[in-house]
Amino acid sequence: MEKKEQLYEGKAKKVYATSDQEVYIVSYKDDATAFNGQKKGTILGKGAINNRMTNFLMQKLETAGVPTHFVQELNDRETAVKKVSIVPLEVIVRNLSAGSFAKRYGVEEGIVFAQPTIEFSYKNDDLGDPLINDSHALALGLATQAEIDRIKDLAFRVNDFLKAFMKEHNVDLVDFKLEFGRLSDGTIVLADEISPDTCRFWDSATHEKLDKDRFRRDLGGVEDAYQEMMRRILGQ
Ligand code: UDP
Repeated sequence: MEKKEQLYEGKAKKVYATSDQEVYIVSYKDDATAFNGQKKGTILGKGAINNRMTNFLMQKLETAGVPTHFVQELNDRETAVKKVSIVPLEVIVRNLSAGSFAKRYGVEEGIVFAQPTIEFSYKNDDLGDPLINDSHALALGLATQAEIDRIKDLAFRVNDFLKAFMKEHNVDLVDFKLEFGRLSDGTIVLADEISPDTCRFWDSATHEKLDKDRFRRDLGGVEDAYQEMMRRILGQ
């Protein structure tokens, strides 16, 4: 498969066309942004870590019955994925209170929920990715009811798997963001990434943050946290 023209450059990844109409190549960057692009920086080694962790977890999820866009890891930073049209919803699942949830409802971080929560944000940088409900997503034609139902079901399945998997590695899965895409036949598959950029990971014993909050909140030790997650998950 041959890499062709760049189709898109996002905050953390570039996307290329290939000689295969149904396949794209994603290339992960070390660039980091937060607060809707207002804070910018570099996290050395992040691109390779996020690429390899995402691919590892997506292959595990496939075996757990979650269809994904993963095709083949090409090198440290690049992966072949199925061409999808992204459903413009950020799907957020939470097991503990943190971040915008804690702020919105005026509660501390670290409250353990009796059951996981799910919410959607409308993927729109100009609007700052506002929270959106099912009814408004339907009204805007962002997805059908059947797609929303399927996305919720898959997102909770991802949570069941990831939460248990992370616990085996002494990591509490606090919350995370998923994106889903449609294949050309309309099938919904998990797309984007699953990494310390898109998940909150806390050490189970010390509650130390092992994710992008170290960058967002200027806590230091950003690279070390990404490497530590890589070591725990992939043993390297
Ligand atoms: N998240 C993300 N991209 C976004 C917003 C959130 O990957 O644009 C992830 C974030 O890393 C966290 C989860 O989604 O794991 C929930 O984030 P939250 O809504 O608390 O927002 P934040 O506090 O990051 O602004």
